[in-house]
Amino acid sequence: MARITLDNLAHSYLTYPRGPEDFALKELNHDWADGEAYALLGASGCGKSTLLNIISGLLIPSQGRVLFDGRDVTTAPTAERNIAQVFQFPVVYDTMTVRQNLAFPLKNRGMEAAEIARRVQKVAAMIDMEAQLDRKARGLTADAKQKISLGRGMVREDVNALLFDEPLTVIDPHMKWELRTQLKKLHHDFGHTMIYVTHDQTEALTFADKVVVMHDGRVVQIGTPQDLFERPAHTFVGYFIGSPGMNLFDATLDATSNGRHARIGDATVDLTQPYAATGRVQVGVRPEFIRLAAGGDGIPAQITRIEDVGRHKIVRLHAAGRDISALIGEGEAIPADTDRITFAPQGVNVYADDWRVAPGGESR
Ligand code: ADP
Ligand code: MG
Repeated sequence: MARITLDNLAHSYLTYPRGPEDFALKELNHDWADGEAYALLGASGCGKSTLLNIISGLLIPSQGRVLFDGRDVTTAPTAERNIAQVFQFPVVYDTMTVRQNLAFPLKNRGMEAAEIARRVQKVAAMIDMEAQLDRKARGLTADAKQKISLGRGMVREDVNALLFDEPLTVIDPHMKWELRTQLKKLHHDFGHTMIYVTHDQTEALTFADKVVVMHDGRVVQIGTPQDLFERPAHTFVGYFIGSPGMNLFDATLDATSNGRHARIGDATVDLTQPYAATGRVQVGVRPEFIRLAAGGDGIPAQITRIEDVGRHKIVRLHAAGRDISALIGEGEAIPADTDRITFAPQGVNVYADDWRVAPGGESR
């Protein structure tokens, strides 16, 4: 197991990049703590695989260094890094049996037969393929082959890190949940450093201790699921995570109140804390923190639709010139004469140029 350090790392697939927009991965400094389970989350094309392949050695970065426990491995081949990587699509030996496929990484390292048999049996149980151990991989479904790939990734106990690049894409939904549970258990039992790439927030939030959110080649936030929910560091995190995502209101902070009051549309809202940002900003409020009101203070709003989604209702509204969403709990009433919204103070975040501005007095 290893701590993985990314030092001044950046990558462009072009030989002569002209500017930041030519970088698939923009400059990044980060330590992946030894033994932690991370999810790398972002939309397709944001640079997740690029970053993972640099860590595994499939790709040499155009700038910066990769260190394993302080040792520079930037140009070291994959085999020397002692990691296991599982890709989106199956990589299996068709002419080998499932058992031989699973045993391959261990045999390669000269492990004795009894130990190989023990590990293969254990992994076969984890991926639910004990009954197919003696079948040839050829002729198995894509789903089954991907489970073999996963098994091969999990079979070694002595790796520096386990890297998964959207490994459950071709797995059927029911099995997804089961395999994710097994991966979590594997992490719990062996404490490997794990990096799990996904574009699916549910997968990321259920798998990881820490989620690394990427957007457009940049890491925009690294935090616990709770951090990402309560304090999105970037507007992208706000709307990408959460269902529905965070509402964003164009706003102007009022200087005479030291930035404690914001002008949103025709309304003035008390943010309850001062913010040191000038000019146009955005106020972000998750649907969970929007309150409905009839009369009194707040931003004028009209309900356009109510969706019952089981444990709560999603109320769609039009307010301050935009469409927004509010989440209303099961037992809570929706006033028939709702004509405004207010914000629960703990749910207010302020953004300038898409980055969160900490309120005065917040310790960081
Ligand atoms: P993700 O895994 O998040 O979907 P990638 O890391 O695969 O994103 O891609 C990031 C960006 O780099 C994309 O714009 C993609 O088109 C580009 N890219 C990826 N691989 C290559 C490559 N081999 N050559 C050139 N551009 C690439
Ligand atoms: Mg990818």
